[in-house]
Amino acid sequence: MRQENNHVKVHMCRAKVSTRSCVFYNNVEERSTDRDLANNILDVEDLVKFGNKQRVCPYYLSRSLKQQADVSRRAHNIELNGAVVVFDEAHNVEKTCEESTSFDLTPYDVASAITAVDRLLVEQAKEVRHGDPVQDFNVESLNSGFKMTVETIAKIKQILLNLEAAVDSYEVPSEKGITKPGIFIYELLERAHLTYNSKTEVYEALEQILGHLTGQQGVFLNTTGLQKLANIIQLVFCGEPSEKERQQQMELNTVCFKVHIHRDNSFHKKTSGADAWAATSTKKQGNILSYWCFSPGFSMQDLENQGVRCIILTSGTLSPLSSFTSEMRINFPVSLENRHVIERDQIFVGVIDRGPDGVHLSSAFDRRFVVCLCPCVSPCVPVTVFPT
Ligand code: SF4
Repeated sequence: MRQENNHVKVHMCRAKVSTRSCVFYNNVEERSTDRDLANNILDVEDLVKFGNKQRVCPYYLSRSLKQQADVSRRAHNIELNGAVVVFDEAHNVEKTCEESTSFDLTPYDVASAITAVDRLLVEQAKEVRHGDPVQDFNVESLNSGFKMTVETIAKIKQILLNLEAAVDSYEVPSEKGITKPGIFIYELLERAHLTYNSKTEVYEALEQILGHLTGQQGVFLNTTGLQKLANIIQLVFCGEPSEKERQQQMELNTVCFKVHIHRDNSFHKKTSGADAWAATSTKKQGNILSYWCFSPGFSMQDLENQGVRCIILTSGTLSPLSSFTSEMRINFPVSLENRHVIERDQIFVGVIDRGPDGVHLSSAFDRRFVVCLCPCVSPCVPVTVFPT
């Protein structure tokens, strides 16, 4: 499947599996009793190799083989409750935590989502007009169990239009844009009728639409915008607070976030992307809604709330530990910090601005490809340090 987006791949696969239209999937049952498989322990590469050779899906094959296995090691669909979670190279954790809980919703995302829903709306309205929706459904939609009224699809479209209007209604005076506290996200989304009360209904409708659209054969629609909206709902409306606790939950959810609304200056570039059919609706310039997380502790607390027994962070470059642990906003009852393996007298720190041939050493951006690997310190110890 030549799709860049993982969600699209998952939905396409689901649709193919449900209609049994993937020949690789259909071969799984027969091939999983193959003697080569039963007598060997296969890693991912082996499974892919076997899958290519025998035209069988390695993913479903591994699931099938798991049923017969005596010993199994869990990797994905990890149950976190009671688990011990280990992060190696933990100096990357801060950035990853912040990035995974931040988003930029561009006019292109919203416009492509509207285009996708529009297409579905037209398709379903035609079915209704013909009087007998079941007869006119193709096999795929029957098998994928897509059941949604035209009114519900129209409601989703209205939400998208309202969201687009709400984001664009802010006058962004300069290049810098406007910045608001995180809790403002609820005010903005409410203008599109996205609230704690409506979140489940909207999220489930989006999931159904995504599953249906990505499973359609021969139809290439960009569903990234719809997927983004589904992810945004999950992120912003996390938790299930009662009516009384709602305000408190909203404050808690947004304390480390900022809302930033700024002009989209890259609209002309996006139209040249993969979704050429959506280009007409994406040519206009609008605002980008950004919701940025400024604390990795938000994700770490979420992990803790899922009932993990123990979180272990390991890295060679976490110093100073005190600032790192306070950023994580979880309790570290045990910490082990070792001295550096290199002794002080083994280190020389200096600034060398010229090489032995008199050439100016510069790591400025415009000279990043002009690397001078010369014997700077001594003829037998060439040392060159360039910042990355
Ligand atoms: S090969 Fe496997 S992953 Fe790919 S579509 Fe078929 S069943 Fe899904």
